[in-house]
Amino acid sequence: MQSKHYFFLLLFLCLNSLHSQTLLIPERVFDGIAMHEDWVVAVNENRITYAGPMDGLKTAGSYTKHELKGMTLMPGIIEGHSHLLLHPYNETEWNDQVLKESPTERAIRGVVHAKKSLSAGVTSMRDLGSEGAGYTDVYLKKTIDDGIIPGPRTLMAGPAIVATGAYGPKGFHDGVKVPLGAVPVSGSDKAIKEVRTQLGNGANFIKIYADYRWGSGEPSQPTFLQEEINAMVSAATTAGRYVVAHASTPEGMRRAILGGVETIEHGDGATMEVLKLMKERNVALCPTLAAGDAIEQYKGWRKGKEADPERVAKKKISFQLALESGVDIVFGGDVGVFTHGENYRELELMVEYGMEPIKALQSATSVNARILHFDGLGSIQNGYLADIIAVEGNPLEDISQMKNVKFVMKDGIVYKNE
Ligand SMILES: [Zn+2]
Repeated sequence: MQSKHYFFLLLFLCLNSLHSQTLLIPERVFDGIAMHEDWVVAVNENRITYAGPMDGLKTAGSYTKHELKGMTLMPGIIEGHSHLLLHPYNETEWNDQVLKESPTERAIRGVVHAKKSLSAGVTSMRDLGSEGAGYTDVYLKKTIDDGIIPGPRTLMAGPAIVATGAYGPKGFHDGVKVPLGAVPVSGSDKAIKEVRTQLGNGANFIKIYADYRWGSGEPSQPTFLQEEINAMVSAATTAGRYVVAHASTPEGMRRAILGGVETIEHGDGATMEVLKLMKERNVALCPTLAAGDAIEQYKGWRKGKEADPERVAKKKISFQLALESGVDIVFGGDVGVFTHGENYRELELMVEYGMEPIKALQSATSVNARILHFDGLGSIQNGYLADIIAVEGNPLEDISQMKNVKFVMKDGIVYKNE
């Protein structure tokens, strides 16, 4: 190549790289831990290169400035418990989704849900099971990661694992074969085999059901034996993966904790004794407040006009206990039970049930990044991936501002700019 051409090529490359640097100038920045007034954030390609006061920025002239007037900039929200392949139960009951909607239909719906989630500021999510749609969640993840459809970064559970006979849909005589919401196993050998099968087929982690209602309308009871849980956790951790457990009874929770799961999902019946055990074993709680709140409203509860139903009243008490116990709280609403894109409802309830707004925001960003294994995310600091959102006003003063997401950047690419 002639040296003149080489010079122009270099100049072009330099200009190009200058153009890809963006300086975001919001009203304030929540960095995943604390709120900072008058900070700016610089982004080069898909990385954050600076976060701090404007006068600390060394090369101020070489950035394209992007003002976010009156807004709070923060890390992209990390949803801890979603079901991209479910839609609200007041539209179609869970049973009918599993029985009557094909995996193809559910995938198409999932495409819409993924887009809505990203637009709502959810740049990462841990999805807690395809609920009868096999590995459709894994395939949905692939299309997002390949850039075919817009959506969050995801960790997918795949089909999930239940004890034989414990999961739905139920109500059929034994001659009728129906698709189940998860894969049933019995015995440690079969449980280990299923963990390996699911990991081999692309599940990023394993979800088990440590308790469930054995008959419809009955209270939940433990499902797996201790040795079955221990075996599944060993099989997963050997593979460098982790296990999470659906559990709402103290005994189901206790077995899952002792077995070595990393998070307990729901935990409605948590007692202080169980919560202390969680704290001791470094197990986090994903309380899914918004799911119970939504389901009770589907059953006819007129929220705000009528007293709390028993389920909600009890949930408030166990959530308070969880806060007192000091366990890590994972932000995760079980979205899918309610409308995708309304993930903020869990944040509103966390605050309504007694959590400090700053703690709720930490949970949805830096805490979830740490607990759910989203490395390099959940924080606005030099070197972190450029998953950045901005919301109107100050969510510390009014957590409901989290519904007003105006700017969404994922991996350095702007998906929303209003
Ligand atoms: Zn769920």
